[in-house]
Amino acid sequence: MAGPVTPSNHPTRWWSPLPDGRIECRACPRYCKLHAGQRGFCFVRQNVGGQMVLTTYGRSSGFCVDPIEKKPLNHFYPGTSVLSFGTAGCNLGCRFCQNWDISKAREFDRLADQAAPETIAAAAQKLGCWSVAFTYNDPVVFAEYAMDVADACREAGVAPVAVTAGYMTEESRPEFYQHMDAANVDLKGFTEEFYHRNCYGELAPVLETLKYLHQATPVWLEVTTLLIPGENDSPAEIEAAADWFAANLGPNVPWHFTAFHPDYKMLDRPATPPATLTRARAIARAHGLRYIYTGNVRDAEGSSTWCPDCGERLIARDGYELGEWRLKKNRCANCGFEIAGHFAEHPGHWGNRRRSVRLG
Ligand code: SF4
Repeated sequence: MAGPVTPSNHPTRWWSPLPDGRIECRACPRYCKLHAGQRGFCFVRQNVGGQMVLTTYGRSSGFCVDPIEKKPLNHFYPGTSVLSFGTAGCNLGCRFCQNWDISKAREFDRLADQAAPETIAAAAQKLGCWSVAFTYNDPVVFAEYAMDVADACREAGVAPVAVTAGYMTEESRPEFYQHMDAANVDLKGFTEEFYHRNCYGELAPVLETLKYLHQATPVWLEVTTLLIPGENDSPAEIEAAADWFAANLGPNVPWHFTAFHPDYKMLDRPATPPATLTRARAIARAHGLRYIYTGNVRDAEGSSTWCPDCGERLIARDGYELGEWRLKKNRCANCGFEIAGHFAEHPGHWGNRRRSVRLG
């Protein structure tokens, strides 16, 4: 692996000077106000000479080819491969972060790869990936790089995908999502208290992002909730979330309940029992939500896609490996019911593999 890379000084969007000489970033609801030389909460946006710059443009923590189901996206060209990468820094501070070595990076020693947007698009094409995912850390903090990579990918016929916590502002949301074809947004909990205590953030802007994506854009949306024992897994909370979900996102947005494993600053909680995920799935389905999945556990029923009309199993999954395929394009092969999402004629065959790649 090459040595550490130097920071970039790339111009950013969504900031302005304040009367007191500081500058304010409006990419996310933290609205960091920075004196010369200071960095924001995310650490990667910085006031350099009175200008807000992105220090991680073109810098990556490494590239991997993954199954698209791992993002997780179960209704976006199932079985195909996605070229995944992240940079450093994050605008939330989740105590249970599962990628904290990247998201909490305070140095650039994790950023060993440098890649121009066109290089990434060409690599994705060459590797046979249908999509490129901005993941591992939140793309909001490296939005200018993500948007340029997304444009290059679209030119090359590769779909850009954002994996995000959705902690954005009314100003940054529309521009960022114009460049994306699909998104998986984390809904980390269902109360402001959860977001304050565990993420140093707020729930309301996340709900706004979810509503915006579903109601005002063509971006394909799936949602993920990591269920943490004793924190956000009570039936009452999941009932409340499912009520909100049904009323605001409707029945067709897939929702993934995934298992927590003790990590980072949350080592005092046990791993999520599979029964908790199954119970959450049942609650969501009882609210009329059609595509509810369990994740991070072996669960043939909860990871498969089922026809909401006739009950036929449409896509069997074992981990990320696809089995039986009973779709005709986007319709149930048994009853013809239209399944929400993006489906090719045939499933992809990437399977469970995870392959690290070096670009250039
Ligand atoms: S993106 Fe970074 S600098 Fe901008 S407001 Fe959010 S945390 Fe602060």
